[in-house]
Amino acid sequence: MSDTTIRPALITKVLPDSIAAEIGFEPGDRLVAINGNQPRDLIDYQFLCADEVLELEVLDAAGKTHQIEIEKDYDEDLGLEFDTALFDNLIQCNNRCPFCFIDQQPPGKRQSLYLKDDDYRLSFLYGSYLTLTNLTPREWERISRLRLSPLYVSVHATEPEVRIHLLKNPRAGEILHQMKWFQERRLQIHAQVVVCPGINDGVHLERTLLDLASFHNGEVPTVASVAVVPVGLTRFRPTVDELIPVSPEKAQEVICQVQTLQDKFRCSLKSTFAWLADEWFLIAGQELPPESHYEEYPQIDNGVGSIRSFLKQFADAAQHLPQRVSPPRKFTWVVGNAVEKAFQPILHALNSVEGLEVNMSALCSDYWGQTITVTGLLTGEDLLQKLRGRDLGDGILLPAVMLKYGDSCFLDDMTVEELAVQLNTPLLPVRGVEELITCIK
Ligand code: SF4
Repeated sequence: MSDTTIRPALITKVLPDSIAAEIGFEPGDRLVAINGNQPRDLIDYQFLCADEVLELEVLDAAGKTHQIEIEKDYDEDLGLEFDTALFDNLIQCNNRCPFCFIDQQPPGKRQSLYLKDDDYRLSFLYGSYLTLTNLTPREWERISRLRLSPLYVSVHATEPEVRIHLLKNPRAGEILHQMKWFQERRLQIHAQVVVCPGINDGVHLERTLLDLASFHNGEVPTVASVAVVPVGLTRFRPTVDELIPVSPEKAQEVICQVQTLQDKFRCSLKSTFAWLADEWFLIAGQELPPESHYEEYPQIDNGVGSIRSFLKQFADAAQHLPQRVSPPRKFTWVVGNAVEKAFQPILHALNSVEGLEVNMSALCSDYWGQTITVTGLLTGEDLLQKLRGRDLGDGILLPAVMLKYGDSCFLDDMTVEELAVQLNTPLLPVRGVEELITCIK
């Protein structure tokens, strides 16, 4: 059956030594169908490819259609990469959260920057958060049939009226029924709660965490973990809104409240279960919890434990640091100014290597208008404004958390290549400690 919203998937890369390379696929070709089915997205693609005999319909760059038959092992990858994970339309958000970062962007940017995704497929593939308020019966059925688990759900509050108020959507009150739906199917979610002072904090936060904890039981806990995150505000929010920024006093109060619940969860659930994002401790001016606190780091991509994890990984890897580098090298390491202090031991260790000079550039974001900024929110424009004209050495060590998932763009859509050209310096994206050390060697 042909679905008119699905576009043939544009191939951008053919991995060397792969089946696709052997057959002669080229970037620019488009995959139309696999065994007569048009893939809607990467999820379909992966499911359809899990077969031993594949009939592929391919459109080449000149517009000619080819039918190709492939025999392969069941789980063998074809070796194709595509320009996007979605071959049909993005499922967009139908909420109006006052704290939405998309609405808090500068005006006059490219239209694509104002697209609000709330797409379960991106959640499954990349761990982005979704609200479950826009799913049709067809999509719920697909999640169940393909067992798309875990998904990452922005819960914010479990009391229907509080969640409806926050998301400005009458459909938002269904969250506890939806948790039961996941439970009945043994599918998992990771949850997040963005705390907005005066709206979903205090007793509401306690209610939410207790409700979610009631779904953390059995062999496959429905709610695997919760991240508690402070609301982030930018200078572009409306002059009058209902949001109150998180003050150091508020951060201390929330830390205290959640830590009391964590003690209970450790007794009853044998897991800390609900974790505080690093930002709470940075705002409160408090020490971060020790490395052992974070268990398997289930919410690390949401800024929970990422500083501790980085410090620990660096301490473990420091033994692989060379004693000297030759010829001498000089780099600029860009981070958000929120982690400037925490990362000083790393900077010190790097600069102890003979011949190596690493200068930390701890920046805040003028793009968002924040005086204290976490690394993941720095944009290409921020880097351009603050680094232009400076001696950046042999290159910029660029934490990859600044880049959008599955992409080489910053949050403001500037590409890594564009910035490298403008700054006339190589940009070296680093995905973790190992890549950091490899770059400086
Ligand atoms: S659900 Fe997400 S994208 Fe939609 S309005 Fe709320 S914060 Fe914005």
